[in-house]
Amino acid sequence: MSGREKIVAESSAVSTSGNGQQPVSLSPFEIAQRQFDSAARYLTNVRPEILARLRLPERELTVYFPVRMDDGSIQIFTGYRVQHSMLRGPAKGGVRYHPDVTLDEVRALAMWMTWKCAVVGIPYGGAKGGVVCNPKAMSQGEIERMTRRFAYEIASIIGPDRDIPAPDVNTNAQTMAWILDTYSMRVGHPTPAVITGKPIELGGSLGRNEATARGCQYNIRRAAKRLGLDLAGARVVIQGYGNAGAISAQLLQKDGCKIVAVSDSQGGIYNPKGLDANALVKWKEENKTVATYPDGDRVTNAELLELPCEILIPAALERQLTARNADRVKARLIAEAANGPTEPEADAVFHERGIFVIPDILANAGGVTVSYFEWVQNLQSFFWDEDQVNSELERVMNRAFDQVMAIADEKRVPNRVAAYILAIGRVAKAFQLRGVYP
Ligand code: NAD
Repeated sequence: MSGREKIVAESSAVSTSGNGQQPVSLSPFEIAQRQFDSAARYLTNVRPEILARLRLPERELTVYFPVRMDDGSIQIFTGYRVQHSMLRGPAKGGVRYHPDVTLDEVRALAMWMTWKCAVVGIPYGGAKGGVVCNPKAMSQGEIERMTRRFAYEIASIIGPDRDIPAPDVNTNAQTMAWILDTYSMRVGHPTPAVITGKPIELGGSLGRNEATARGCQYNIRRAAKRLGLDLAGARVVIQGYGNAGAISAQLLQKDGCKIVAVSDSQGGIYNPKGLDANALVKWKEENKTVATYPDGDRVTNAELLELPCEILIPAALERQLTARNADRVKARLIAEAANGPTEPEADAVFHERGIFVIPDILANAGGVTVSYFEWVQNLQSFFWDEDQVNSELERVMNRAFDQVMAIADEKRVPNRVAAYILAIGRVAKAFQLRGVYP
């Protein structure tokens, strides 16, 4: 077996079904566990029982709840809140609205949050929530009523010192405001620190909206330096043009990068001469998609990932870079603004091909870092200006990037494994110090 085959066999995202013939894709949580295992083997000083515990979530809540729709009918929705770990502090993680949300996906996202908070050294554990719904087919009123009832259903396990939700796919500052209000009404007093990513007027932090993309930008600058890659003129391809993707495009354009292709759920647009990131934001606001933007050629989301570029930023959903397309990715640097965009088998291919991957738990940690700053400001009722937020964010992101690189260099492991070694080591240490109750 060659080195490459060995890596692929060890970390393959494709397992074999019962009859030994049909390949079956791993679920997001199985991928998260594979990633965990690939780092855990280096943590030889951590007791196996601790690792066995960290491989599983602490608590999972499934709720089925009714919502009155605009036409007077009542629809039953399914929602989840999974808390993977509270060892290092209250659990933290976003809420996602999407038709494809599953308990397995939320479980994976919760686990990734634990490692993300640990990798950047902020005092939180990991959680995630989701509601199975199609918000694009719902009115604002329906979304509000669904949000409020979901917040009520999970209220018994969230709270400023228990579990603090935030925005994720298809949720935003307004959604957070409804959760804040519902929770505050339930406990009988204003509780802004129960949620982050809320509007500035309700105690949100300056810089939070841009934080995920800004953190990604800080990491890309650091990685580019390491690779000897000049950002001026570097071609960037971005999948997903929402909070993480669109703001990354705008910030990297300011750094001199050339945004050559972007996409959203409707498809993508490609122009090797460069697209204007700000005009694309405006176009998407007015036309609901970037795919119809006139100044370029239409591409599918699959084609987009294989376009010639120096920097590829997956900023949409999980499992986009797979065994099927990893060989054709042209980028030198992949910055995972999305959570879980790369399957383990693609990871092995990127490692073999020398493509530099900034793993999700590091690349998109800017969001939760500024969420932490927001929570700190809420608890102190004392607010920072935007420069302070951004400079603290830069400090945290650069420190985490350098610590991950030091492990990658020392142990000669892929960046993702290095990030996991750092993160799991910190959480395992917390477990060891706290011991087992009772
Ligand atoms: P968003 O809802 O603002 O944007 C998501 C974008 O992805 C939209 O443009 C949507 O059209 C597009 N999209 C959806 N399905 C797609 C598909 N199949 N192919 C291509 N594009 C598709 O969400 P967001 O907050 O930007 O989150 C994007 C990713 O970033 C998610 O993986 C999320 O978990 C991750 N993330 C977000 C934050 C944050 O603070 N917002 C923080 C960390 C990680």
